[in-house]
Amino acid sequence: MDFELPPADDPRRRAVREWLAAHPSPTGRELAEAGYVAPHWPRPWGLAADPVHQLLIDDELKRARVSRPSNQIGIGWAGPTLVHAGTPEQQERYLLPLLAAEEIWCQLFSEPGAGSDLANLGTKAVRDGDEWVVNGQKIWTSMAHFSQFGILIARTNPDAPKHKGISYFICPMDAPGIEIRPIVEMTGAHLFNEVFLTDVRIPAENLVGAENEGWGLAKVTLGNERVSLSGGGALWGLGPTADDLLALARSLGGIADPSLRQQAAQVHIEAEILRLIRLRTVTAAIAGRPPGPEASVRKVLADEHGQHVMALAKDLCGTDGLLTGGEALGGSAESWHYGYLFSQALTIGGGTGDVQRNIIAERVLDLPHDLDAEAGLTWTEARHAAVSR
Ligand SMILES: Cc1cc2nc3c(=O)[nH]c(=O)nc-3n(C[C@H](O)[C@H](O)[C@H](O)COP(=O)(O)OP(=O)(O)OC[C@H]3O[C@@H](n4cnc5c(N)ncnc54)[C@H](O)[C@@H]3O)c2cc1C
Repeated sequence: MDFELPPADDPRRRAVREWLAAHPSPTGRELAEAGYVAPHWPRPWGLAADPVHQLLIDDELKRARVSRPSNQIGIGWAGPTLVHAGTPEQQERYLLPLLAAEEIWCQLFSEPGAGSDLANLGTKAVRDGDEWVVNGQKIWTSMAHFSQFGILIARTNPDAPKHKGISYFICPMDAPGIEIRPIVEMTGAHLFNEVFLTDVRIPAENLVGAENEGWGLAKVTLGNERVSLSGGGALWGLGPTADDLLALARSLGGIADPSLRQQAAQVHIEAEILRLIRLRTVTAAIAGRPPGPEASVRKVLADEHGQHVMALAKDLCGTDGLLTGGEALGGSAESWHYGYLFSQALTIGGGTGDVQRNIIAERVLDLPHDLDAEAGLTWTEARHAAVSR
């Protein structure tokens, strides 16, 4: 780790402070128009900010207790792909409402037979005049039930090899022929959906990039998971951090049980390792170096760490934790119970723990390639791009 954030009188810091003084409670649209939602994007959508400038903006927004609009897939995945390959008309139409979270986006990628091996997808799009007609089924589509648009990948040339002949579309979620069926998680919440597409007509201008070149764009999407340079909770940025939990336990008199003390020490060690790995990644970004293999290691560690933190939160509640948990330590019963159950998803979403280990085996340990891999870029490699950010 080798960097320091610029001091209080840095002109870029002053610019953010002055803007915040003029906009003490900014709306999503105001933040978007100022370029503060995704400062690393090019102008006019962002500020073309380098990593230090981004950290500095994060710092000032945090100090002013200003939260960015929430549109995880829109801002994190779909937007950067449209910045990369969208037509000027697509950029003009979609980017600002997306940054302001006025229009929510979902991701129509996974299918029952295409998860880790995404290029195996069977949803088809056939050109008919100035429209594409889409038929197929998607699954695990988070937030589909309240999204206005989805990024959709579908097969447009069934005769081409697996990674060729896929195209990338913007799918209006209110198009006739889209049926969204909820999947209720074991948490009791409804985040995911099955999405059935029957003769869904998508205007030709909603094709992103070139026909049959969608796999390359899917990799751009997967490689653009939000650049998060700040610390986060154990549940993909949400939930308590290990520090939050341990501070709470300390404030309540510490932990007497020897096995719980071991668990507490373990999550503290993991959190420290993750903090140092993150600083190494930030240092590399500031020095203009590409992220190294530590990004894949971080994903595996962070996901399992999230599960350990939430398990400790439950265990600290003793027998209360068997029921709902949380109150005994002053935490929120519902959020801890939810977080404990949800944490099981961490090692599945965004590339499973096994797939991450394949990446580490191949890229870090130089072991032979995944036996299932075919010619061309595999899902494993695409996910490597995703976690390298
Ligand atoms: C919280 C959450 C949100 C999600 N949101 C979305 C979304 O919005 N849109 C979307 O499109 N998808 C979404 N997904 C789906 C997610 O991308 C897939 O679940 C994930 O890619 C794994 O695919 P799968 O479930 O089909 O499992 P599979 O790929 O069928 O894997 C089954 C098992 O086999 C193992 N396995 C598979 N291939 C290999 C291999 N090569 N080597 C070793 N082991 C292997 C896996 O690790 C796993 O244990 C979400 C998932 C989660 C958990």
